[in-house]
Amino acid sequence: MNACFPRFLLQAEFLSGISLQPKNCAFSLFSNQKRRYCVIALSLSAKPTKETLVVVGGGAAGIYGAIRAKTVAPGLNVVVIEKGKPLSKVKISGGGRCNVTNGHHTDNVVLAGHYPRGNKELRGSFFNVHGPIDTMSWFSDCGVELKTEPDGRVFPVTDSSSTIIDCLMSEARKRGVVLETGKTVTSVSAISGCKFSVKVEKRTVGYVEHAEANYLMIASGSSEQGYKLAAKLGHSIVKPVPSLFTFKIDDFQLVELSGVTFPKVRAQLKLATVQKSIPTLTQVGPLLVTHWGFSGPVILRLSAWGARELSDSDYKGTLHLDFVPDLNLEDLKSLLIAHKHKFAKQKVPNSFPSEFGLVKRFWRHILEREGLDGDLLWAYISNNSLISIASHLKNCSFTVKGKGQFKDEFVTAGGVPLSEISLNTMESRIQSHLFFAGEVLNIDGITGGFNFQNAWSGGYIAGASIGNLATASSLEEETV
Ligand SMILES: Cc1cc2nc3c(=O)[nH]c(=O)nc-3n(C[C@H](O)[C@H](O)[C@H](O)COP(=O)(O)OP(=O)(O)OC[C@H]3O[C@@H](n4cnc5c(N)ncnc54)[C@H](O)[C@@H]3O)c2cc1C
Repeated sequence: MNACFPRFLLQAEFLSGISLQPKNCAFSLFSNQKRRYCVIALSLSAKPTKETLVVVGGGAAGIYGAIRAKTVAPGLNVVVIEKGKPLSKVKISGGGRCNVTNGHHTDNVVLAGHYPRGNKELRGSFFNVHGPIDTMSWFSDCGVELKTEPDGRVFPVTDSSSTIIDCLMSEARKRGVVLETGKTVTSVSAISGCKFSVKVEKRTVGYVEHAEANYLMIASGSSEQGYKLAAKLGHSIVKPVPSLFTFKIDDFQLVELSGVTFPKVRAQLKLATVQKSIPTLTQVGPLLVTHWGFSGPVILRLSAWGARELSDSDYKGTLHLDFVPDLNLEDLKSLLIAHKHKFAKQKVPNSFPSEFGLVKRFWRHILEREGLDGDLLWAYISNNSLISIASHLKNCSFTVKGKGQFKDEFVTAGGVPLSEISLNTMESRIQSHLFFAGEVLNIDGITGGFNFQNAWSGGYIAGASIGNLATASSLEEETV
């Protein structure tokens, strides 16, 4: 049918916003609306059609992987199918600034140590092939100026995630990646000759297309659909659970402290379901008091390392905080006794040893917890009270009653197990020509740019592997 061909061309053009492959494209589609076989762009030559890679998901991993595949094998048809808007998480990431990667860790073992899921497996070749420095070079080569903040987080100098999105979209367009948005891959199946049949649906009722692909890259993030596709192709799924969240705390007095920050606390999480001691459930770092509980890097880190155990215990446990981790109990007592003698005529709520590094609001909170009178002078405070204050500062416990709704850095732990893929190529060990990249895998990092780095590294390796296979295949075809 004549009408069919232009209809799909028009559709792809409208939906892609990137580009079409006018020649030799083997991204063939069936539409059940017309009940007819349609080809998105027909082969104009007599030669067999070119191979096609279908990427499920236009997030960081999918777009980066698609660009790499098309760079290595310019002749390969690369089609990214995205159900929503491409790079939507990049847009909201890092509070709209996009923390692209982390610039402080070049050693693979140290870098891998920032991934609660993946810390053993990622010590090998993964970051050697494409690590944070390679990511930074890639963006710089594409004209994006980056800056590294003192804590290692890397951002575009514009402090705008749009800079990263514009760069990726422009590279994809330049290379000829086809992007189809507003379409969902709802089913996949392996067909003969290492090929895949891909079912694509639009929100419009009854709109179904079937595409045939030589290579499939699942880069669907934490979407349930993505896990289902992986399972359909023979993979198991490690139960997905949230990571990087804040803690709801059952303490009405805390509300008064909302907004108070502590530059350094030691936080230890105890859960009823965990009997053995887990070293990673003790973390040191900055803490922020919110109106519902605790947030800040130290809490997000605990939530990441304890993601699975917290899920098992229904997000209930006890948090022990040491507000002065650099001083021991004896030091604290000595400092308090010295302060008592030196400031005998001052009211206790009005002064405290500066070595504690605390804010007055918190000091008063501690005194309230101790039940001490607001007019008490230092001269009259008992030694028992001083010992009790010191103990309180070293170990203050709070009841964790749930998970906060704060979603600034939310990621999902779980997904396709790393034992089922080869990290050298990102290819499935179960299904040939099937590749995975990004958060769909059982990899997640703590905050600081590590999650995007997983997406860039995985996308790059998968894209390069597919590109190499496609190049080899086209050479083979030429020699036949
Ligand atoms: C608010 C927020 C802020 C963050 N900030 C940072 C940060 O600053 N730095 C950092 O390192 N990490 C950050 N992260 C984490 C980071 O965004 C993710 O780890 C990263 O986006 C994962 O990339 P991905 O490509 O694997 O998945 P995604 O970015 O989730 O992309 C997957 C894409 O696949 C699409 N999709 C899924 N299923 C289908 C289907 N069946 N058919 C078609 N399309 C499908 C989805 O619509 C989605 O666009 C943040 C996360 C959140 C939520």
